[in-house]
Amino acid sequence: MKRIYVDNAATTRVTETARRVFIETMDNTWGNPSSLHSIGQAAAETLLKARQDVAGCLNAPRERDIYFTSGGSEADNQALRTGAAMGKKKGKMHIVSTKFEHHAVLHCLKKLEKEGFEITLLDVGREGLVTPQQVEEAIRPDTCLVSVMFANNEIGTIQPIAEIGAVCRKHGVLFHTDAVQAVGHLPIDVQAMNIDMLSMSGHKFGAPKGVGALYARNGIWLTNIIDGGAQERGRRAGTENLPGIVAMAAALQEACANMEEHSKKVTALRDRLIEGLSQLPLTIVNGSLEHRLPGNVNVCFQGIEGESLLLLLDAKGIEASSGSACTSGSLDPSHVLLALGLPHEVAHGSLRLSLNQDNTEEDVDYMLKEIPQVVSYLRSISPVWEAIEKGEIHYAI
Ligand SMILES: *Cc1c(COP(=O)(O)O)cnc(C)c1O
Repeated sequence: MKRIYVDNAATTRVTETARRVFIETMDNTWGNPSSLHSIGQAAAETLLKARQDVAGCLNAPRERDIYFTSGGSEADNQALRTGAAMGKKKGKMHIVSTKFEHHAVLHCLKKLEKEGFEITLLDVGREGLVTPQQVEEAIRPDTCLVSVMFANNEIGTIQPIAEIGAVCRKHGVLFHTDAVQAVGHLPIDVQAMNIDMLSMSGHKFGAPKGVGALYARNGIWLTNIIDGGAQERGRRAGTENLPGIVAMAAALQEACANMEEHSKKVTALRDRLIEGLSQLPLTIVNGSLEHRLPGNVNVCFQGIEGESLLLLLDAKGIEASSGSACTSGSLDPSHVLLALGLPHEVAHGSLRLSLNQDNTEEDVDYMLKEIPQVVSYLRSISPVWEAIEKGEIHYAI
């Protein structure tokens, strides 16, 4: 059976380039970059080159402002801990973020709250967008950090990051962005956008899992999450994951070089899917259509359960998701869809299709044929569908 992978927001297939350099690095550059002998120094040079390449793709002014981590979650935690620690020193213990951040941000903020910080989580509205005005209004004299994600992993909405960066700079508040869904997919310039700290993760753009990076501009003294040796300028201990780092740098360069072409192709596929699926009765498209990642489709079908939909779609060869991978297995609806103001019953019927450049027109044809059939079938056996269709059950949307 044909299998269509449309869960690229959860993870991506490793690209041919990334796979090749990963293996080459393992085979040939297996030294420890901290060693002084030749094989170690070769590894150190390779590491420096990867750091320069990543810095280049983000327009970071200095390669040493890139700190390699184990992924996006670690980078998010380190950024938040850093903003909190820098604030605490000055007696500033208020942090501004949003209701629809990734759990790597939200759960870390919960902990900081227990440690005495005050957290303001901004609403994201029906469109899934935060405005610079909201951020400005939330900033107080004791605000030490603003953290707003670049693009949302469930609904794909792109935030006005440059404008938010400008607001934060104006008020002298540190600005972090979780750019895990954006890096390699959208143009990013940390200097022009006034970004102080940025998190990224390799496996969301064709590199292997378990490698990411945190950009922190000159003058930010990162708080260690992992103590030990002096790697990453003493801010992140542990022998570097060189094959992963080199593969990530290669995947990023490749993604950035092909960004325009991929974006154009994927956007066209996305728009056809959204157009087709939104024709189905009592179906809602989630998040702004205008400010949206090229590959993101997110819809709610009233009267059905996302979990049953996923299982039936998988049986048809369609590999999708109904919210974030991290919450699948739990019965709570997605916090992102609830933040949009959707009722629980509607949020339960969500489907996320996240495309990338490997998807084709044929994939879209197939999905537009199969998904409506599966939705109709599930509605036909749903205990509430008839009442919803007749208008006896009405959800405030
Ligand atoms: C995937 C993801 C993360 C976590 O990254 P990992 O490398 O899997 O730890 C964080 N934030 C967002 C927005 C993500 O999509």
